[in-house]
Amino acid sequence: MKKVSQLYEGKAKKVWTTEDPELLIVDYKDDATAGNGAKKGTIHDKGIINNRMSNFMMKKLEEEYGVPTHFVEELSDRETVVKKCSIVPLEVIVRNLAAGSFSKRYGVEEGKTLACPIIEFCYKDDALGDPFCNQYDIVAMEWATKEEIDTITDYTFKVNEFLKNYMLEKCNIILVDFKVEFGRLSDGTIVLADEISPDTCRFWDADTREKLDKDRFRRDMGGEEDAYKEVMRRLMGE
Ligand code: ADP
Ligand code: UDP
Repeated sequence: MKKVSQLYEGKAKKVWTTEDPELLIVDYKDDATAGNGAKKGTIHDKGIINNRMSNFMMKKLEEEYGVPTHFVEELSDRETVVKKCSIVPLEVIVRNLAAGSFSKRYGVEEGKTLACPIIEFCYKDDALGDPFCNQYDIVAMEWATKEEIDTITDYTFKVNEFLKNYMLEKCNIILVDFKVEFGRLSDGTIVLADEISPDTCRFWDADTREKLDKDRFRRDMGGEEDAYKEVMRRLMGE
């Protein structure tokens, strides 16, 4: 499978067309942004770690949990063949512990355990700053149908159960929260798309609560390269 032409360059990935109209190649960069593009930088080898981790998780979700995903084949350290989809313009967030914008919104300390996991939807639009929205907004604006929201909600909680348990048992890492995106294939099937990585998840060491994710970059804490490497080491033993 070869790249034909660049379809899109995002903040973290480039997306290429292929000879097959139903397939794309995503190419993961080391570029990091925060604050909706206000802060820019590089995290050495982040692209390799995010590509490999995302593929590892999507393969397991599809094979073991019945969550359909866009993953097709890992081509190289940074490149993966995925099913082309029309992205549902939503950032779907799950929270197990309070952190980030949730802590700010409700004035609760980061790390407070929530009585049950929460799902949130944001309208995916950089110019608007990805505003918070609810199921009525989504249906009224025709971003997705009620049936699609139900499917997305079901898949997203499955992702949470799998990822939370896997990260804790295999990596001694707490899954604080994460964001996923979904797309529609040409026949309308909803699939998990985009990525699952330390860019899109908050991961804390279960003993020390040390941050092992993009918050180190967002909050100018330093040590982001080592944190990404540490997640990869615990996940894949390297
Ligand atoms: P951003 O657009 O937020 O800067 P990225 O740099 O990660 O993000 O760019 C990747 C883009 O590709 C995102 O807009 C994402 O929604 C989109 N995308 C991810 N998976 C697929 C897919 N399977 N088909 C089509 N588009 C996808
Ligand atoms: N997230 C993401 N992309 C975004 C916004 C959030 O991947 O554009 C992830 C983020 O990594 C975290 C979760 O979604 O794991 C919840 O983020 P939050 O709403 O707290 O936003 P933040 O504090 O990052 O602004």
